[in-house]
Amino acid sequence: MGASRQVYLDHSASTPVDPRVIEAMLPYFGEVYGNPSSAHRYGSRAERAIEDARITIAGILNCQPSEVIFTSCGTESDNLAIRGAGWSARHSGQPSRLVTSPIEHSAVTNTVHQMGALMGFATEIAPVDKFGSIDSEIFAEICKRGGALASIIYASNELGTIQDLPLLSRIAHAHDMLMHTDAVQAGGQLDLDVERLGVDMLSLSAHKFYGPKGVGLLYVKDGLELAPSQSGGSHEHGMRAGTHNTAFIVGMAKALELAYDEKDDRIRHFAEMRDQLIQGILDRLPCAALSGHPDRRLPSHASFVLHGIDANTLMMHLDLAGVAASSGSACKTGNPEPSDILLAVGYSEDEAKSGLRLSVGAQTSEDDISYALDVLETAVEKLGKLKREMAR
Ligand code: PLP
Repeated sequence: MGASRQVYLDHSASTPVDPRVIEAMLPYFGEVYGNPSSAHRYGSRAERAIEDARITIAGILNCQPSEVIFTSCGTESDNLAIRGAGWSARHSGQPSRLVTSPIEHSAVTNTVHQMGALMGFATEIAPVDKFGSIDSEIFAEICKRGGALASIIYASNELGTIQDLPLLSRIAHAHDMLMHTDAVQAGGQLDLDVERLGVDMLSLSAHKFYGPKGVGLLYVKDGLELAPSQSGGSHEHGMRAGTHNTAFIVGMAKALELAYDEKDDRIRHFAEMRDQLIQGILDRLPCAALSGHPDRRLPSHASFVLHGIDANTLMMHLDLAGVAASSGSACKTGNPEPSDILLAVGYSEDEAKSGLRLSVGAQTSEDDISYALDVLETAVEKLGKLKREMAR
């Protein structure tokens, strides 16, 4: 860390835990240590904290507390939704085809793929346009052929694009399919009212909205039967066995509560910082084009393709100058393969290796943005010059 300044622009990968969240969690690492499933008073205190957290979260999701299932992360929530719905449909002799999109996080993509490859489930990918928006007419055609579940990401981690979930849910339901959404990137920024969204299941992960890593949840509409992926005790209505992580569940509820209490101010700030970044990059980097939807995008999220620039090399230059960014999905960083998501929206192999994602947060300042723009301009010029010299 030799750079004079550190600027973190990778909030889509993870966010710092809010000090108020840490404070809310602290008693549950110390004095309240009982197992929430135990019948004595030590257990009851932990159980009370978990049930209070469930009530708080249900208020934000506009659902019943019993419809909130705690998990260990967003990935687990996605796995539970897809496997649970697929297995239950197959067990009861219902259509079991799984429909998803080409721009999902690997937690969905690889789970659907595994269900097809190892267990013989029929799977189908609904196409997206150049912005990453699902084509609703083709989606309707695909749903018409029947299936158990459609799993469509609410807001793309790589492109920032927001889907029209109420419309897609109506289409899935019209063809008797369940609708799951990976709302991990949307958490803390977009409307999570499950009635308005019309979804049957929704995944969240606390570390994307200033809560701790290693805790998530799945909203599961009342009456839905999900076969558990993790079997054991009868926790979480038998859908997810394992002793609850009391402190992290309390932290997730506190983080979500703060995010929605402060949503208007946070969103205004995110969008202001994001727009300064987008404008600055498009003005100063002739090789840059915005990827994802120009308007229907996450307030915190700016993404680009930088024609002729290798994004992984750029990441190293930025890191050396103190700027933390991502070359696409966080899980892909360091991987020289082109981004599947950029390929899926129509970019060439070279373009799909030139993705840059910058995501702002609550602490991002105008000075941070102007520093990051200076660093980016210098790094891109240097890489361009190097490329021209090597081509000679
Ligand atoms: N889904 C999306 C859209 C994500 O961005 C992520 C994390 O980057 C996940 C799922 C996985 O969440 P977790 O890190 O909690 O497993």
